[in-house]
Amino acid sequence: MNGLDEKAVLRARVLALDAELDRVLQTITGDQLAEAVDSKSNERFAARFRSTRDRFASLIKQTLKPDLVKVESVPSPTDAWARLEKVQGRCEKVVRECAAFLQGVVARIHGLDRQGSQNGFGLCDLADRLIDDLSARAQISWWGLTIPADEEFVEEMAHVIRIRWADVSLWNLPVVAHEFGHLVASGLKSLDKMREPFREILDRHKQEEQPHLHEFFADLFALHTLGYSFAACCLLLRFNPRTAFRDGENHPSEAKRSYFLLEALTDQAREDYGNGGSPNAVNGLRAAWQGALKEAGYDAEADKVAAADARTHFEEMKAVLPHFETRLGYDGWLRTQNLVQIWREHDDPPKPGANETRADVLNAAWLSRVSPWVTNKAELKEIGRKAIQVFQQVH
Ligand SMILES: [Zn+2]
Repeated sequence: MNGLDEKAVLRARVLALDAELDRVLQTITGDQLAEAVDSKSNERFAARFRSTRDRFASLIKQTLKPDLVKVESVPSPTDAWARLEKVQGRCEKVVRECAAFLQGVVARIHGLDRQGSQNGFGLCDLADRLIDDLSARAQISWWGLTIPADEEFVEEMAHVIRIRWADVSLWNLPVVAHEFGHLVASGLKSLDKMREPFREILDRHKQEEQPHLHEFFADLFALHTLGYSFAACCLLLRFNPRTAFRDGENHPSEAKRSYFLLEALTDQAREDYGNGGSPNAVNGLRAAWQGALKEAGYDAEADKVAAADARTHFEEMKAVLPHFETRLGYDGWLRTQNLVQIWREHDDPPKPGANETRADVLNAAWLSRVSPWVTNKAELKEIGRKAIQVFQQVH
């Protein structure tokens, strides 16, 4: 007589998965990690750590564990195995996310994201602040935190936003607005709360087209909220002109995205948010990117297709703009130009005024970077230093 009846294998698997979840739960909710966060980080990060950790913990306790218990009570063995497979899949995802969260928290505690910034905050702290701004302006809540990782990515269960640790610098900060845009996409409702404008766009397309639409939406959100700096970061630092005409499975080609961003930026300049100088800046970016495309192996036919495709997507996607909160659109071009001037004149720039925003600082940094007087690495570093200093002081 032994305990190995016909359900023994299933039971063993359930027990193993249950133990695995216990282990994850213990690690993320244990005192050791919380104490390390409290002793080595600021309050803001500690609060974000707790809300994210609690989110994962409740996901495990309230959904995964009860689902696991139910596996054994399913009457038909075939159904029980099918159910187990489903729970296993979800557990794997959560365990993977928890692991990334743990690694990210430890990296932040040890200041691995601090390299590029001056003694103050690490890049993730700056990124948290930027997303806090956007989340308040968009009136879409964000309870997660940003962590350094190998690639940018956002997951929806706990709102953890990963930022690429290898290029920890102010210049890449605009990309977090794109990642937050992915979270906004799923929560966006019309102002009267009766409609879901982005969902309506998705519903007009086939399933396989939807990943690209999500990317265009996130690009539009980042551009709309930050303006110039997002387009400049993508076109001057991120997109690769050599592979620009290739569509990816999840991302539209970078040629399409660049046209899309330039359309959106031109549109924003046309809206005249008191931003008289913007068309020149947009034309400068366009010319620089076109120049790079031509140098890197230009395909005139593919270029035409990309431009037309991006325009169609922009025309369709911009239907969501009226549903964003009115304070969300970037309207600080004059403030940006003012900051550029001040930074040029002062080694120690004055504290930002009450109206200046973090988006203004990023735009001023990028606009300074492309100006004729920033010509070498030392000057670039200087602009970065000033921008980070002012960014930290914005309220
Ligand atoms: Zn994306």
